[in-house]
Amino acid sequence: QASVSPPLAYLRVLTIAGSDSGGCAGIQADLKTFQALGCFGMSAITAITVQNTVGVRAIHAVPLDILQGQIDAVLEDIGADAIKIGMLHAPEVAELVAAALDRHGARQVVFDPVMVAAGGDRLIADETVEVLVQRMFPRATLITPNLDEAALLLGRPLRSAEDLEPAARELVALGAPAVLLKGGHLAGETVVDVLATAQGEVRRYESPRIDTRNLHGAGCTLSSAVAARLAHGDRLHKAVEAARRYVWQALSAGAPVRTGGGRGPLN
Ligand code: PLP
Repeated sequence: QASVSPPLAYLRVLTIAGSDSGGCAGIQADLKTFQALGCFGMSAITAITVQNTVGVRAIHAVPLDILQGQIDAVLEDIGADAIKIGMLHAPEVAELVAAALDRHGARQVVFDPVMVAAGGDRLIADETVEVLVQRMFPRATLITPNLDEAALLLGRPLRSAEDLEPAARELVALGAPAVLLKGGHLAGETVVDVLATAQGEVRRYESPRIDTRNLHGAGCTLSSAVAARLAHGDRLHKAVEAARRYVWQALSAGAPVRTGGGRGPLN
């Protein structure tokens, strides 16, 4: 009897995030990353930013029913092996996304608590921060704050590589099962990131700094790459390792490229 092959299926990853018209960050970066890492990408857009490499000119919120509709439509039909969550610009958006994750029994959720764009423009309202902690932290598999986001979340400045490990543990104590605290905003030849988990595991990752202005979307790309690797079945620390390697390669490749007059994309 001839053997019958099982039907082929893509690894599916959904991004719930903002759109960057400039193509560097947000869902545009997420979808490129999913594709590059062998996954089928889907998107639910929270907000549309009017943006280029120089700055954010405006933010247009997508109506809540349309945001919820996007999430429900793709998860009811296609489903997701992992979900990346980016810019949640207002408390009601975070509430809606948290409820949707519960409703769909979402697993493998990477939450990048996006707050500030690469050029310094604020992307979320102040009152959103508390809601992100309460509603999103417990539902995430991993959160991936940068130094500035961690400082906002903890309410104190973080100034040196020695601050990373205690800060990562404190963010876990706020309710996230695992935290990848990214130290790239600190000065130095080496970029240090720290992974801390609720099981008490702490890992330090180091890589040589790449001298580049083209960092726009680095955070989005990293969190999307972790989600893609989790979809492939990697354990968390392996997914983080692979994602850091991918971002390092994309930053290296993008460093000499000139795109626009400001902070350009990775490659
Ligand atoms: N999400 C959106 C929609 C953005 O516009 C930005 C920055 O411009 C980000 C996320 C965060 O970008 P990055 O990966 O550079 O931190």
